[in-house]
Amino acid sequence: MKIAVFSCKPYDKRTLSSHAEDTLLSMTYFESRLSMETISLVQGFDAVSCFVNDDINATVIHCLKQQGITCIALRCAGFNNVDLEAAKIEGIRVFHVPDYSPTSVAEHAVALIMTLNRKTHRAYHRVKEGNFALEGLMGFNLEGKNVGCIGTGRIGTAFCRIMKGFGCHLYCYDVYPNQALIDLGCEYVPLDDLYAKSDIISLHCPLNESTHHLINKTTLHKMKDGVMIINTSRGALVHAQEAIDALYTGKIGYLGLDVYEQENKIFFEDMSSHIIQDSVFQLMLTFPNVVVTGHQGYFTIEALNHIAETTINNLLNSQVADNQTRRLA
Ligand code: NAD
Repeated sequence: MKIAVFSCKPYDKRTLSSHAEDTLLSMTYFESRLSMETISLVQGFDAVSCFVNDDINATVIHCLKQQGITCIALRCAGFNNVDLEAAKIEGIRVFHVPDYSPTSVAEHAVALIMTLNRKTHRAYHRVKEGNFALEGLMGFNLEGKNVGCIGTGRIGTAFCRIMKGFGCHLYCYDVYPNQALIDLGCEYVPLDDLYAKSDIISLHCPLNESTHHLINKTTLHKMKDGVMIINTSRGALVHAQEAIDALYTGKIGYLGLDVYEQENKIFFEDMSSHIIQDSVFQLMLTFPNVVVTGHQGYFTIEALNHIAETTINNLLNSQVADNQTRRLA
């Protein structure tokens, strides 16, 4: 089976090729994303492997089918960038990596909370310049604070467990409450109560129609003044311009983002010599109480190994299914 691996960085290539050793999979690695512009690269391959920002829309899927692709192996948990209905119609199997390391993303959400709270991003620069003044670096104790967690699946659950360890009170919201968290002392409440009670709100739900721009001027209005918002899930959960408006008024006191709605034009690339053509994003970076990271929540040794192992297994399973289909035909 020949696999075209898209959006492939050197670290992906290292882990994937080590896990593909001793299999009959032949991997070819492309730095570019899969989209209509790069579709011609799939010629001669049997399957593709993609990441979060590849644009796998209905047209791309139709072209994949025409090129004989039978499988899309995503190397991520979220699949909002794939038109699943189109894949079903075209008979292309889609795999994802559901739980490659919930802990890695949950711990990154906590890193954003700790950075914003204790202002280590600012302290780092001050100390480097010989400025040891503390004015402006005041934080607060996490112990006893109310933390809202929206989405208590794998990552949300790991996040709640960590925050419980800090002595926080957890208010949770999910369409399917998790009994293990209730047993741990977390409290499921309606969303409006979560908004009203939480000092910190962390988003761990998927991006779908019901969660698109979940954080907007109406929902922000229901929150405490100075609330801390953390988004390590998907960028479009937060209405960026309305978040900026709330930063100006002080409604949002702290904003930690690992994802951004328009990130596909920016993230995972070295843009340091370019003018970023996104005024909303540029403005966001100017606030001292905003910390943005470039979708690195998943980026740990453990997670990358798990992603590679699961992706290779998914491709091997797809190959077995293809062989069985051929035998039946
Ligand atoms: P999961 O499927 O285990 O959990 C998602 C939870 O959200 C589920 O319990 C589901 O019931 C709940 N949910 C669905 N719709 C909801 C709604 N409208 N309101 C509240 N809850 C709702 O997924 P996960 O593995 O915990 O991942 C969560 C998200 O994290 C993914 O969708 C992905 O977008 C994001 N993610 C980010 C990174 C990163 O590097 N930053 C890495 C992996 C995943």
